[in-house]
Amino acid sequence: MKTSLMRNYGERTRTMVRGEGAYLYDDTGKQYLDMMAGIAVCNLGHAHPRVTAVITEQASQLLHCSNLFQIPLQQVVAQRLTSLAGLDAAFFCNSGTEANEAAIKLVRKFATKENPRKTKVLSIPHAFHGRTLGALSITPKPAYHAGFAPLLPDVATPQTLEDVLAAINDETAGCFVEIVQGEGGVLPLPKEFLQALEARLHSHGALLVVDEVQTGVGRTGTFFGFEQVNIHPDIVTMAKGLGNGVPVGAVLASQHVADAFQPGAHGSTFGGNPLAMAVAQVVVDEVANDEFLAHVRVMGESLYSALSEFGTELSGRGLMWGFSVSDAKQFVADAADVGVLFTTVGENRVRAVPPLIIGEREIEELVSRLRQIS
Ligand SMILES: *Cc1c(COP(=O)(O)O)cnc(C)c1O
Repeated sequence: MKTSLMRNYGERTRTMVRGEGAYLYDDTGKQYLDMMAGIAVCNLGHAHPRVTAVITEQASQLLHCSNLFQIPLQQVVAQRLTSLAGLDAAFFCNSGTEANEAAIKLVRKFATKENPRKTKVLSIPHAFHGRTLGALSITPKPAYHAGFAPLLPDVATPQTLEDVLAAINDETAGCFVEIVQGEGGVLPLPKEFLQALEARLHSHGALLVVDEVQTGVGRTGTFFGFEQVNIHPDIVTMAKGLGNGVPVGAVLASQHVADAFQPGAHGSTFGGNPLAMAVAQVVVDEVANDEFLAHVRVMGESLYSALSEFGTELSGRGLMWGFSVSDAKQFVADAADVGVLFTTVGENRVRAVPPLIIGEREIEELVSRLRQIS
């Protein structure tokens, strides 16, 4: 078919026109149970009344004014997020890849202040941090790199977790890590590794950057994924769930690290605009409470049991699960036919990241629909 779009996304067959809670509807009126939430974005579900109300209200006041002015809601959201993370200062942007770009710059700026040779940035095998050139450089997937070389210098992804630890030395500026590798197959990294990584980085004056773009905002059953593995990042990056579909990204850092960014060091035209901040405030308010997070953990257990009927090698946390099937693409297509939306994360791997507001009724519906796959 003739298209006026670039072909970077491949073929798309279905057209979604409306959503409500954990359900989506396409242009033929077909209903789908949404187990992907726009790729771990719509954590509060579709058409959430408070989200809709705050967007409408803020749109009638002020959408955007630029960072040449004070935006009081930035202070409010920054205060909330940094206190949840045990950090001190925030920078707002518009996506996960942008948050990681800003974090790469912050890591370099901080590390090279005292030692201009302290420029090395590390990442973990199977990591995913985004598609812009900096974030792509710490995303070691050959298919994503093809044709884009040369990427960022002084960036390395060792082959194994042991090699990552061994690669850290006095020229290491920092290392990026996910708590559960989402795009990598929904694989939680071992707690012992994460703790060893923190210790080794800190013993060489290097920074631990935790990418919570997918795991953050309640996805794993705590507000941040790192809370469950007892580590203390110097920098946290966020996006996906933070705006429930309105683009919002954030970088959080401890004060001495954040101080490396002086006026002029970094910026974003849209980042932290009043619309984004108004939505993020509501999202954080809804998610960052014990009752909501307990619901995520309980539903996570139910979802785990439900999915074990349909796939093997389940792994994940909270409402973030991956499972293996013989042909992931075929499974996702068959599931969509019976009214359930999943995404693939590998040839044999399927990911379930439903809206966090999902209930027992939807999980029963999930099972009965998937049983219709012949
Ligand atoms: C999705 C994702 C990103 C990239 O976010 P975008 O908003 O698509 O740029 C970065 N890191 C992780 C862990 C992600 O899951």
